[in-house]
Amino acid sequence: MTRKSVLGEVRQVQLAVQLIGLGARLQFLEAAVQLSRERLIRLYKELKGVSPPKGLLPFSTDWYMTWLANIHSSMFYNIYRFMLDEADESELPALIKAYRLYSEQVESQGGEVVLDFTRAETMVRFFDSDMLQLSTCSRCGGHFVAHAHDNKNGYVCVLCRPPSRAGKARKPKVLEVRRGGLISVAPVLDIGGAV
Ligand SMILES: [Zn+2]
Repeated sequence: MTRKSVLGEVRQVQLAVQLIGLGARLQFLEAAVQLSRERLIRLYKELKGVSPPKGLLPFSTDWYMTWLANIHSSMFYNIYRFMLDEADESELPALIKAYRLYSEQVESQGGEVVLDFTRAETMVRFFDSDMLQLSTCSRCGGHFVAHAHDNKNGYVCVLCRPPSRAGKARKPKVLEVRRGGLISVAPVLDIGGAV
C-alpha cells in the first residue's frame, strides 16, 4: 500500500471493521490489516465498546476432534475449501466469506455457533502447516476434519458414529446441519446470495 493512499487506507479500515465484527482477535488483525496497533485498538473499542482481550487462547488440534466441534469445524472447512477452489477467492476473503456463511447457516437453523472466528482461523493455519487433514467418511462420503497422517482407510465420521453421550435429543439438529451443507457445499451457496 502506498503510504498516502486514502482509498487504500479506507479499504484497510473496512477490512478491520469486518474482521472485528466477526470476532477476530487483535493479533490476527495486526497480521491481516495494515493499520497501526493503536488504530486497531481504537477501532476495536469504538465498535465493541471494550478493549480487545489480551493474549490468544491456547489451542491444540484436539479441540477440533470433539463431537460437536468436529461437525462445525468440518462444515466451516468445507465451505472454506469451496471458496478457495471453486469460487477462486484468495485466503483472507475466503476466510471471511466462509466464516460468515457458516455462522449464517448455523443461526438460520436455530443452532449455536460453536466455532468462533479465532478457532476457524487457527484451524486454517493447522491445515496449512499439515497438522490437520480432511478425511472422507467411508459410510456417508462426507469430508471431515481429522488429525493429519491418520489412516484414511475405513474412516467413519462423527455423524455416522456419534458418541453415546451425544444423545437422541440432539440428533435432529445435527441432521439439519448435515443437510445444510456438510456433505455437499454447493446448495449452501444458494442461500440468500450471501457470497
Ligand atoms: Zn459419515
